Amino acid sequence: MHKITAKKIFDGNGNIWENTLLTLDQDGTIISIDQMSETDSDVKCIDGFICPGFVNTHCHLELSHIKGKVDTGTGLIPFIKNVVTKRDADPEEIQEAIRQADAEMYQNGIVAVGDISNKKDTQQVKYQSQIAYYTFVEMFDFMQESLAESTFQQYNDVYQYFEENHLNKKSIVPHAPYSVSDSLYKRIHEHNTGLKTISIHNEETPDEISLFLDKSGGFPEFFGGFGFPMDNFTPTGKMPLFHAIQRLDPAHRTLFVHNTLTTVEGIIAAHHWSGKVYWATCANANLYIENRLPDYRLFLDQQAKMTIGTDSLTSNWQLSVWEEIKTIHKYASYVPFSELIVWATKNGAEALGYENIFGTIEVGKKPGLVALENITESDGRYYLENATAKWVNLFRV
Ligand SMILES: [Zn+2]
Repeated sequence: MHKITAKKIFDGNGNIWENTLLTLDQDGTIISIDQMSETDSDVKCIDGFICPGFVNTHCHLELSHIKGKVDTGTGLIPFIKNVVTKRDADPEEIQEAIRQADAEMYQNGIVAVGDISNKKDTQQVKYQSQIAYYTFVEMFDFMQESLAESTFQQYNDVYQYFEENHLNKKSIVPHAPYSVSDSLYKRIHEHNTGLKTISIHNEETPDEISLFLDKSGGFPEFFGGFGFPMDNFTPTGKMPLFHAIQRLDPAHRTLFVHNTLTTVEGIIAAHHWSGKVYWATCANANLYIENRLPDYRLFLDQQAKMTIGTDSLTSNWQLSVWEEIKTIHKYASYVPFSELIVWATKNGAEALGYENIFGTIEVGKKPGLVALENITESDGRYYLENATAKWVNLFRV
């Protein structure tokens, strides 16, 4: 048994406890939560705060080997062009980078990850990892109806490979509103039975918005350059999210990723469309690629279920949910710190269907406990400049 306390305990549900004793069994399951009493002995006291292990809802582990090789601040289309040209590498180099990225995330207090996969590369690392992975096998056909079936078969082969090699949590997902034909949406829809999480990149760059509003912006030329003209695409005059929700299934959990340009109308429409909508923000990646952040006030006002993603090492300097919290806290300090912890823990666990194990400090759960140290507090504000996050104990998932 382990007895642990801290100055403050953030439970993941938005509560902050003081004078509270957590008792855990050997494997990290929480057995009891009690008021501290003077008779308690053998208590490990954390000099700082405690929160549940972090959930990273958006990553591309298979792009880890491109770390530091793509320029910052170029915008999404040049970024994608760069990734395409730098993606191929020695298989051993790719594997080693994936291994290191997985270890880095675990070291940074992450218990579960939603990971986009276009290839089979990450199977081995995920299978052996301390982290619980939800794999999103992602499909795109450049909006070419004629390519839908062959695209589906190509990526379904990846899905089947993960199925045969014991990656339990997975779904097939569309890449983004601008890159998936109606036929491919239909095939994805037919494939996902039961309750799944469906991730989709959403409203990340002004070019994406322009395409849907009036077919301007860089995408028609970009796709044309690949030999995929967008001749058959008719702009809807609405934001891309509206196009996506007409083609997604509201019965699944839906995770909209990035949302840097999402409007309040879009948030309201998505919430009206499904009660299981989650939003992933990847602040450092947004700064890396587009040098902009979402307006989080719109999401707070609508009580949106926000989650935190790191995106990949191609578009980030590290894979750390804690570093994402620090960045959001720095540039959008109107988001309460306790709310950021909810985004990083409970909401993420729910989005990925891990709410029975991770995300909150509750009896019977095994969330992992992270110590947040060197946070300065003054007049009810938290200052995170020198703050660190590390495991209280390293718990096996
Ligand atoms: Zn992504």
